[in-house]
Amino acid sequence: MSKILDAFLNENLQNLRDQGLYNEIDAVEGANGPVITINGKQLINLSSNNYLGLATNEELKQVAKDAIDRYGVGAGAVRTINGTMDLHVKLEEKLAEFKGTEAAISYQSGFNCNMAAISAVMDKNDAILSDQLNHASIIDGCRLSKAKIIAYNHSDMEDLRAKAKEAKESGLYNKIMVITDGVFSMDGDIAKLPEIVEIAKEFDLITYVDDAHGSGVTGKGKGTVKHFGLEKEIDFQIGTLSKAIGVVGGYVAGKKNLIDWLKVRSRPFLFSTAVTPGDVAAITRALQMIMDSTELHDKLWENGDYLKAGLKKLGFNIGASETPITPCIIGDEKLTQTFSRRLVEEGVYAKAIVFPTVPKGTGRVRNMPIASHTKEMLDNALAIYEKVGKELGVI
Ligand SMILES: *Cc1c(COP(=O)(O)O)cnc(C)c1O
Repeated sequence: MSKILDAFLNENLQNLRDQGLYNEIDAVEGANGPVITINGKQLINLSSNNYLGLATNEELKQVAKDAIDRYGVGAGAVRTINGTMDLHVKLEEKLAEFKGTEAAISYQSGFNCNMAAISAVMDKNDAILSDQLNHASIIDGCRLSKAKIIAYNHSDMEDLRAKAKEAKESGLYNKIMVITDGVFSMDGDIAKLPEIVEIAKEFDLITYVDDAHGSGVTGKGKGTVKHFGLEKEIDFQIGTLSKAIGVVGGYVAGKKNLIDWLKVRSRPFLFSTAVTPGDVAAITRALQMIMDSTELHDKLWENGDYLKAGLKKLGFNIGASETPITPCIIGDEKLTQTFSRRLVEEGVYAKAIVFPTVPKGTGRVRNMPIASHTKEMLDNALAIYEKVGKELGVI
């Protein structure tokens, strides 16, 4: 190894370890279900994004196995050579139906999708108005485009309006885009899409909503854009197939000309191998299941409401979430880490999220209830929260 690289790595890794910021990754031994096994210990799992429990759904497992038998384990090429199977075409038709748009394009991940879509339409002569709390993949996608990035205060519509006006009136930019998460995953709050659309109309902005945490969860399962009835108003509807949908991948849904453009100009579509047949088949069936029945969606919300009510009754600060995402705000960073570690020791897997992911002094343990949690699991989790909360003087 080069000496300069070796020194760089050792110094920086040591720094992180000294500050307690080096993340040791726990391997899950078996499926990522409502209960997981780590280091041989069973834990109630409140950390996955598997909102509807579809990652371990028996029907989807069978659909994936059947597709593997028929198509093999890999797509064999990028989409534009011969990696597009009829399965991918069906998936994209299903995605358009799911999102209520003319067309859709799928990618290998949600992260990849933001790398692909933003830079396919925005360039150095453009500007992007970006919510301060947008996801890392949005931030990186914006950077890749070389457009001027103008961050606005989180969900602050006055700030957005002022910055949109200034950008428009400056005459410096060809195109201006406004970009936001649909659901913000740290606090579980929902973007103010009706106001964003109004501001976009006033200043002729392109609208881009990444609803990674909304699809399957809000809008009776159809997402945050649908929740507000704005399918016709949002230019880019982005989503992931890896959270509530339970598999892997990402997509853009929108007008046909937009999707046609992305198929010829978005680089991960052109230069990275297509998603595997088993995954694509499972995703397509998962979308159909979400459209056919709200049963899993309803169970998710019931579980979310139950957990929230339980934590609140115990005296915890659960913030102002509008979705099943349930932060339990502890405050101090060290105490938050200790709290999370004690939860694991007692049998609940819920991750500490601290600065710099969230502002200093707002460290929290974030809970992600899912549809396949039983009342008994949630009651056990609440009992453990009560024990640890009293022990550490949080309640
Ligand atoms: C999780 C997330 C992504 C990444 O999705 P993957 O499919 O896991 O790559 C993108 N955008 C937002 C807003 C997310 O929350």
